[in-house]
This record gives sequence, structure tokens and C-alpha cells, in this order.
Amino acid sequence: MVNFKRSSGRTLTEMRKMYAKVGVIPNADGSAIFSFGDTVAIAAVYGPRQLHPQHMQDPATGILRVNYDLLSFSVYERKKPGPSRRSQEISKVTEWALSPVLDLKEFPNTVIDVQVYILQADAGTRTAGINAASLALAHAGIPMRNLVCSISVGKLDKNLVVDLDKEEEDYDEGEGATDFPIAKIANSDKYTLLQLDGKIQPEVVKKVLDLADKACDEIYEVQKKALKEVTEQ
Ligand code: UDP
Repeated sequence: MVNFKRSSGRTLTEMRKMYAKVGVIPNADGSAIFSFGDTVAIAAVYGPRQLHPQHMQDPATGILRVNYDLLSFSVYERKKPGPSRRSQEISKVTEWALSPVLDLKEFPNTVIDVQVYILQADAGTRTAGINAASLALAHAGIPMRNLVCSISVGKLDKNLVVDLDKEEEDYDEGEGATDFPIAKIANSDKYTLLQLDGKIQPEVVKKVLDLADKACDEIYEVQKKALKEVTEQ
């Protein structure tokens, strides 16, 4: 629908303002903050370090262990502290999104811990978290094939829109909102995460991926700039 207007005034393909900075947690081996508008994620990397308990160690490979959580004050209705099914799911998909760029076999018997916390949530927290975590891994000096970039594409009343905010995610007219979070290896056609909440016609998926590709190119530029800022200091 050509006349569709987003409540934020953004165009259909316009992302929220991005911000990225690395080195925000001095105690961590690597750290980064990444935001899409009012959604703010912070990530800290520790390791590779010996995995404990020892019986979990694998002499053939290291492991990537992600812990994602929303802080209680990050949302309007206070979130009960502690893990939930949602946080477990997002931790797992974040691991899957990031693992393909790492060569964990280089670090046998170890774990790379990635802590992702959402300081402020306005939808798109898993994608902001993946962008922050990818930057934090690079800042930790862990060899990576490339950065991972992540964005959500949605469908509101038959319109494809990039980077849904919470008001858009909750949109409930027409067919309702569909949310399609995607992660990919930068500068490649290798997708490391495709999730779908809602309905989408198979023939539209290609268009969704094209929009995600363009958005990921922009995210990659923001990530590279943040890494450059720290290496030039
Ligand atoms: N949300 C919330 N309380 C919760 C979980 C989520 O208010 O306990 C909000 C928050 O703004 C989040 C949004 O709902 O960003 C969408 O959550 P979803 O599970 O779809 O994941 P996300 O879009 O954040 O990756």
C-alpha cells in the first residue's frame, strides 16, 4: 500500500538511528554497545578461557556461550529478573548467528563467554544484541571471518518495513505485524539467522532478504567505524 505511513515518520526502508561504540567495559576482554533508536544493547566478551567444570571440556574444540537478558528497567512493565524461555531462546539463536564466523577448533577445551544485556528495549533487541556481540568479539581480538550484522524486517498491512519498533511490532490492523529477524555475515550472502514471527508468502522472502542486505550494509559501516575509532586511539 503506497500511502502507508509509519508512526515514527520513517520511510519504509529507513532504519532507526544507529549508534555503536566499542571498549565500553574495561574489565572485559572485548565489549561494545549498539543501539537502534531506543533499543540499546551492551555486550561483553570473556575468553577464550578454560571451560569449567573440566568434564565439559572438548579437546577438539572450544565453545561459544551466549547469555542474553533484558534488564528489569529496560521495558515499561518491569521485567522479572532472571532467565526465561524467551531469554534462553534468544541466547541460543545469538550463538547460532555468531558461531559461523568463528573457528572454535582453534581454542580446544575453552569457552568464549558473551554476555548480552538490553539496557533499553523498543523491539529489535535480539538484532541489536547480535550487532553488539559481533563487535565485542572483534574488539576482544578473536579471529573472525567477518562481522555479523543483524536486522529485523517486518510486514505491516502488506508493506515491508525495515527495523520495526515496539509500536510497529504491536500493530494490529489488517494482517497484523510480521517480524522477520535476520543475521548475515557481512559482505556475503551467508545468512546465519532467519526467524519468523507471523506469516509471510514464500515469494516475498526474496524481497525481505534484499531489504535486509541493504540494511546490513549500513550496519556494517557503523560497526567498522566503531572499531576504527578504538584502533586509532
Ligand atoms: N518486551 C517487553 N517485555 C518482555 C519482553 C519483551 O516489553 O518481557 C518488549 C521489548 O520492547 C522487546 C519487544 O517486546 O524489544 C519485542 O520482543 P521480542 O520477543 O519480539 O524480541 P525482540 O524484537 O526484542 O528481538
